[in-house]
Amino acid sequence: MIPLEEARAFVLSKCKVGELVLVPVDDASDLVTAADLAAAGPIPPFDNTAMDGFAIRSADLADAPVTLRMVGTIAAGAVPDIEVGPGEAVRIMTGAPIPPGADAIVMVELTSMSSDETTVDVTRSVPVGNHIRPMGDDVTPGQLVFPAGTPLRPAHLGVCTSIGIYDVPVHARPRVGVISTGDELVDEPRPLGIGQIHDSNRHTLLALVRGMGATGIDLGLVPDDEDLIRQAMVDAAATCDAVITSGGVSMGDFDYVKKVLTEIGDMRWMQVAIKPAKPLAFGTVSGTPVFGLPGNPVSSMVSFELFARPGIRKIMGHAQPVVPSITGVAGADMVRRPDGKTHFARVSTTIRSDGRYEASFSGGQGSHQLSAMAAANALAVIPDGDGVVEGDPVDLLLL
Ligand code: AMP
Ligand code: MG
Repeated sequence: MIPLEEARAFVLSKCKVGELVLVPVDDASDLVTAADLAAAGPIPPFDNTAMDGFAIRSADLADAPVTLRMVGTIAAGAVPDIEVGPGEAVRIMTGAPIPPGADAIVMVELTSMSSDETTVDVTRSVPVGNHIRPMGDDVTPGQLVFPAGTPLRPAHLGVCTSIGIYDVPVHARPRVGVISTGDELVDEPRPLGIGQIHDSNRHTLLALVRGMGATGIDLGLVPDDEDLIRQAMVDAAATCDAVITSGGVSMGDFDYVKKVLTEIGDMRWMQVAIKPAKPLAFGTVSGTPVFGLPGNPVSSMVSFELFARPGIRKIMGHAQPVVPSITGVAGADMVRRPDGKTHFARVSTTIRSDGRYEASFSGGQGSHQLSAMAAANALAVIPDGDGVVEGDPVDLLLL
């Protein structure tokens, strides 16, 4: 058996970071910047008011309450071409530029306007700069806003357009093909024949792929037929940036995936020292990484988390392909026997009063028991040995 780290290092060595492309900002969510993004100018681009109210001269309010002369109105988006002189006020709306002469904003709640709108009473004094958002307060000119390697979440996309970047240099969103293999699989809502089961892996894996911001390509079901599997692999490798298959990588007579991949790909069939998901067939077909995950539904998901997610993250340009685990506490005994493998238990967590995650089995730990995976929000990493007892620290991979 190969240690997990060694198997994963092999996988990552074959996954190449995607090329730099310019992507419209609205299509860039969850992608990773491929170049440094700097601001050409300041944000905000001009001094502006944070409040609806009146632009005034702070010194005029020293003896408040006072009455000021109204000399105009400036809306958001307007040019501030009204000078505020001593004893004067300009009505102003949030986001509007500060007019010349004014040095503070008094919010509308502290004022009352005369019915003919020629004067305004101000009840209180305010300091210089009151409610003024200075130019460059958020971003200064030339500031490195996002270094290369920044994953783009919604706020980042807003910052991009704030600084005038509508096409963002990112690593291309990878197209990840997902294939299920197995004669027993059915993919329609009809009663099952003897020996048949519904295909669950492809739907789960497509959702995992899409959930991380890659494009999931549904490449359907392929029966346990060597020629059909070969054709499906060749086609998938030609049209995708990565391919994920499930099933057919074990020791069974009809496990053709590893056989075919050994023939057509630079493939390595590995027995990884983990449970579940021991068998993994991984390699490249025409340069495209192919992840041959095991068929058992829990195994395919665990294998996705341990190998496919890091591989796809690397392709996407993430600086840290392997998502780090956190340390929690065992909420109950999790016993096991020494078998040379690291076990990944399906657990659900609660947060203790000391803020640490406490983990307990979320259900049956069989590799076919997908409902326990659905109930889990983490995988507990149980090192080789006799397991952990209640209260022991335990590493958790959050799902
Ligand atoms: P295999 O890895 O092909 O030997 O399959 C191992 C187990 O996983 C068998 O019980 C299969 O029926 C099951 N299995 C394989 N592929 C799928 C799938 N796509 N959805 C649900 N179960 C599957
Ligand atoms: Mg099979």
